[in-house]
Amino acid sequence: MTALVVATRNKGKVTEIAAVLAALPVEVMSLDGFPGVPEAEESGDTFAANAILKATHYALHTGLPCLADDSGLEVDALGGAPGVYSARYAGPEASDADCNAKLLAELEGVPDDRRTARFRCVLAYVDPDGTLLTAEGTCEGIILREPRGSGGFGYDPLFHMPGAEKTLAEMTVADKNAVSHRGQALRNMATTLARFYHENRRA
Ligand code: IMP
Repeated sequence: MTALVVATRNKGKVTEIAAVLAALPVEVMSLDGFPGVPEAEESGDTFAANAILKATHYALHTGLPCLADDSGLEVDALGGAPGVYSARYAGPEASDADCNAKLLAELEGVPDDRRTARFRCVLAYVDPDGTLLTAEGTCEGIILREPRGSGGFGYDPLFHMPGAEKTLAEMTVADKNAVSHRGQALRNMATTLARFYHENRRA
C-alpha cells in the first residue's frame, strides 16, 4: 500500500475522502500525522492553482504523494465572485453567516432568473516524483433570497438545487455527497488515480 496524505486537518473531510478512495491501494493519512509541517499558502487566483500549490507544498514537506482540494462558490450575476475568496468573502475572520449576509446584500434586487451559481471543486494529486493529476467537479444551483435548512456548512442554506427542490443544507450528508462538486471531483479523482496506479504498477 502507498501512503497518500490528504492536505487537510479536518477529520470530516478525511473520512469523506477515504470513503471514496477505499477501493484504491492507498493508506489515507491526514496532516495530523505531520504536526511540524508549515501551512501552505493559498495565494492562487484559481481553484486549480490553489489545489496544486497546496498539494505540491505538502508533497515536498512530507516526502509522500499528496491530495489537496480547493473549492468555492461562483455567482454569475457577480462575475464569478466570491470564487477563490469564498471563505473570506466578508473579511478574514468572517463567519459563514457573515458571508451569507454579504452575498444576499450583493444580490439585492437581482431577479430570480439571474441568480444562477455553481460550486466548483478542484483536486490536485502531486507525488514526490513530480507527477501531477487533477480532477474537477461542479454543482449548479440558484441563490435564494433567504437561508433554508440547517445541515452542511458555508453557503449551503442559500444554494437551491432545482432538480432536488432542496437547498444543500436541507439534504442528508449522503445525498449532498451524491450531487456535490466535492463528491464529483473525488469520484473523478478516484477513477484517474485507479488508472494511474494500474499503468504504473503501484498497486
Ligand atoms: P474549502 O476549499 O473547502 O476551504 O472551501 C472554501 C469555501 O468555499 C468555504 O469556506 C465555503 O465558504 C465555500 N464552500 C466550499 N464548498 C462548499 C460547500 O459544499 N457548501 C457550502 N460552501 C462551500
